[in-house]
Formats: sequence, structure tokens, C-alpha cells
Amino acid sequence: MKSSPVRDLLALTQRPEVISFAGGLPAPELFDVDGWRDAFAKAAEDRRNLQYATTEGNPVLRGVLAERMTRRGLPTADSDLLVTTGSQQALTLVTTALLEPGDVVAVEEPTYLAALQCFQLAGARVVPVASDEHGMVPSALAEVLERDRPTLVYVVATFANPSGRTLPASRRREIAALAEQHDVWVVEDDPYGELRYRGEPVPQLATYGDKVLHLGSLSKIGAPGLRLGWLRAPRSLMPAAVIAKQAADLHTSTIDQAAAAAYLTGVDLDRHVAGLCAAYRERRDTMIAALPDTVPAGTVWSDPDGGMFVWLRLLGPVDTADLLRNALDHNVAFVPGAPFFATTPDTATMRLSFTTNPPEEIVEGMRRLAAAFTSPSAAGGR
Ligand code: PMP
Repeated sequence: MKSSPVRDLLALTQRPEVISFAGGLPAPELFDVDGWRDAFAKAAEDRRNLQYATTEGNPVLRGVLAERMTRRGLPTADSDLLVTTGSQQALTLVTTALLEPGDVVAVEEPTYLAALQCFQLAGARVVPVASDEHGMVPSALAEVLERDRPTLVYVVATFANPSGRTLPASRRREIAALAEQHDVWVVEDDPYGELRYRGEPVPQLATYGDKVLHLGSLSKIGAPGLRLGWLRAPRSLMPAAVIAKQAADLHTSTIDQAAAAAYLTGVDLDRHVAGLCAAYRERRDTMIAALPDTVPAGTVWSDPDGGMFVWLRLLGPVDTADLLRNALDHNVAFVPGAPFFATTPDTATMRLSFTTNPPEEIVEGMRRLAAAFTSPSAAGGR
């Protein structure tokens, strides 16, 4: 495990004077602080909520999560769910349960950085699958399945990190069918699915087949500091996942799960999510509207239907890591795109997160970014 120059630069984004479009952070002022305060107070009334508990998770929480998933179109029983310490842990558990060193994982390109790290830590070989503006291309996946015989296929099917792309229903059906045909597991990582700002929801990939594992999270619709996520897995896989979870941390925090159970049974989460979507829609529109006056001619970008990210490609050759240094001099930050690529990085790409800052900060941040693009060091780096 090693740090990277980009990671070191991103440490500088923490300076208070920096407007950061770097981290995938929800808006802190939109956290339902009152709701969570009440939920934690309620959870703390019962001393069993400070005790050790079962590995699978709080039964009430599993029940409300299963009910919510079913209502959103993915029929789910309580017993299909394992509560995890963030969906990141669900990914680690799936990796532990399914992957041996040297196994192959197929991913869309670009893909979520911490998933790549998780697979690499497990000693897996990561193989990118050709992807376009609609995500992973099924025919390209078919080729990789034939050639590289992956054990796992990893996709963020809805409002992907970092690209913002959403896989259309037809491709979901094809990918699920390929998984059945080749007897390979697909992991559908879905922390952003509820954050839709336009268009109609697309059925989750897991609705199209039994070989799809589904990862959910409260991080983006509740709060990421809770570290609460879940794995939806078929009966055949659940025991291995539970054993991996036991070895990892026995169980997710009892009090946090009890608070989440109290919160989800007491609060209208749909209403809260609708409020988030209204605010984030405005932030996305503000950022997209500012882009033509911010970036150099020839730059292309995504205009995502939901999620948190705008993905850009500058007219190359250029390395956005050099540009980040320059941007930090102007007190604005973003994430260079290279680390999101499994093999050959496209250094002309970058990711902007539009959810963290209110619209007026986005306008100011984009003004600073425009200045960073036009100042001399942007051209050649330093
Ligand atoms: N998957 C993806 C695609 C993500 O973007 C993130 C968060 N950045 C996670 C998983 C981790 O989410 P959690 O907070 O639930 O661990």
C-alpha cells in the first residue's frame, strides 16, 4: 500500500480557504440533525443497544431496509440482507468471500477508486471492460468473460462514481444474462440510486438475475458518518459473507443500527430524499451552467441525471494532476481522473463533485477554477 502524489495534494484541499469539488461529500447542512438526535436518544434508552449483537444486523433495521428495497422495485426479504459498516465493508466482505489472489475482477472504465484498491489489496487482477457514455458495453464484457474468466464483475450501474453514467435497462438485462451464462458474480454497488434529479428510475441490475449481488448505503441519503450499509445476497453466498463479517468486526455498531432503525421507522425518508434531490439538482445545474465559461475550449463533460459527479475530459495532451497544483494555488480543488482507471490512465480527465457546496460557493469555485485554467502554469505544469 502506498500513498500517491494525488493523495498528498488532496490533503491540501482540507484548508478552510479552499472550495473543494474533490471529495464525494454530501452537503453537511442538509443532514437531518434533529431527526438523528432523536433517533440516537431513543436508541440509548434501551441498554441492549450498547451490548454485543448478532453479526447479521439489527432485525428492525433489516426489516425496514428490506421493505424499502422491495418498494423501490427489488423484492427483498429481511434474511437477504447483511448490515455492514458502510457499503465499503460490504465490498470488502464480498471480496474476501469470493476472491483468491490472482483471480480476475472485471470493471467498467473508469470506476470507483476505493473498489479498485479493495480488489488490488485482495491480490486480484483487475481487467477493464470497454465503457461508453452509457456505462459498461455488454459485448465488451462478453469478450472479457471469454478471455479472462473473471470471478467477479463490478459495476456502479446508476450515477456512477466518477463518471455519473447510468446503465440503461437493456444493458442491465444483457449483463445479468451474461453473468448467468458464465456463472460469474456481478456486484452492483448502488450508493447513489435514490439521488435522481431528472428522468425515470431504471430497475436495479439485481432485478434481472440471481447472480447479481447488491450493495446499499445510508451514506448519501442519511449521513456517511453513520457508516451504515448493507449487502443483499442470495442464500448460497450469505453464510460466507457472515463469516467474513464476523472475522472483520463481529458486527456493525449496535447503537448506530438501533438509531438507524428508530430513524427509518419514525421519519419520512422519502420526503428527506426529495429535499436532497431538489437541492442537489440546483447545484448540478449551477455547475453545468458555469462550465462553458470555466474550462478550455474542446473540453467535454457529463451532465448526469443524478448522483454527485461531473466527469470532464480536457483536450489533451494534458495532466490534470498538474492542473490540481495550480487550482490549489487558486484555493479550489477537484480530483484528477487518472486514479479511477484500472490500467492505462487518461490523464486529461477530472472529477468535480457538485453536492458539497451551496450554489453561491459553486459559482465562486468555478470562477477560481477558470482562473486556474487560464494562468500560465496550467499549460505545462510545474
Ligand atoms: N461505492 C461507491 C461507488 C462510492 O462512491 C462510495 C462512497 N464514495 C462507496 C461505495 C462507499 O460508501 P459507504 O459510505 O457506504 O461505505
